[in-house]
Amino acid sequence: FDDRDGWIWFDGDFVPWRETKTHILTHALHYGSSVFEGERMYGGEIFKLTPHSERLKRSANLLDFEIPYSVAEIDAICNETCAKNGLQDCYVRPVAYLGPEQTSVSALNNKVHLAVAVWDWPSYFDPEVKARGLRLEWSKWRRPDPRTAPTTAKAAGLYMICTMSKNTAERNGFADALMLDWRGYVAEATGANVFFVKDGVLHTPKVEHILDGITRQTVIEIAQAKGIEVVVRDILPEELSDFSECFLTGTAVEVTPVAEVGDYRFTPGALSLDLMETYGRLVRRQA
Ligand code: PMP
Repeated sequence: FDDRDGWIWFDGDFVPWRETKTHILTHALHYGSSVFEGERMYGGEIFKLTPHSERLKRSANLLDFEIPYSVAEIDAICNETCAKNGLQDCYVRPVAYLGPEQTSVSALNNKVHLAVAVWDWPSYFDPEVKARGLRLEWSKWRRPDPRTAPTTAKAAGLYMICTMSKNTAERNGFADALMLDWRGYVAEATGANVFFVKDGVLHTPKVEHILDGITRQTVIEIAQAKGIEVVVRDILPEELSDFSECFLTGTAVEVTPVAEVGDYRFTPGALSLDLMETYGRLVRRQA
């Protein structure tokens, strides 16, 4: 992915895509001191840009470092990077991390770097796969206890668990994996939050042990505006047999129906498809 044309904003300048290098002793590479965001621009506007920039700053603070740019500055950098690359519809990836000034566990004197890359990325899943519903397997890995790791940060280190889970799922022929939290309750997929439907009511896990997705928050708002009840609670894996529909939410996956999780089966139904469509219109600012 490093050999292509384009411009990446890197520590204050636009650098040609192929030339954005970092030293091998970069702290983040050794100790996981890195946080990032994933955003989408639709027709020239990044959806929920400021909440993403705020989460980036918050994630860095949770890892005990400060990004030397304000939320407004990060917003502007993201927009300028899309413009510089001539893109109106794209994925936006800001990343902030500690540099190579000191390669030891302590990192009190390391420089905080910020980069923003953008690229064309139409749909995370094949549209046909999306319409049929995704096939998920259970991950053998659990989300950590919030006393063990800053589970609400979008921190690179936490994605090791996601990568191992997703690799195994794909090797086994599944689209993604659903992870439990450390207590054994349903948590999230490797890059998305999960919702279930029962008797016209939405059920979704609480946010203490998962990433509080901006898409998740948006879908809750959409549902509530439609008069659909949303119950945020601990969900046991055995309860999946009670639910008729299931879907994932995330910047990349948007709203994507799920057809199976392990032995449980779901039919992409009216509620999932309605939310999928309403979300699609909202991000494109269509009435
Ligand atoms: N959980 C995980 C583990 C994720 O990587 C993502 C994607 N950022 C989400 C949930 C969904 O978050 P958002 O809706 O903010 O993209």
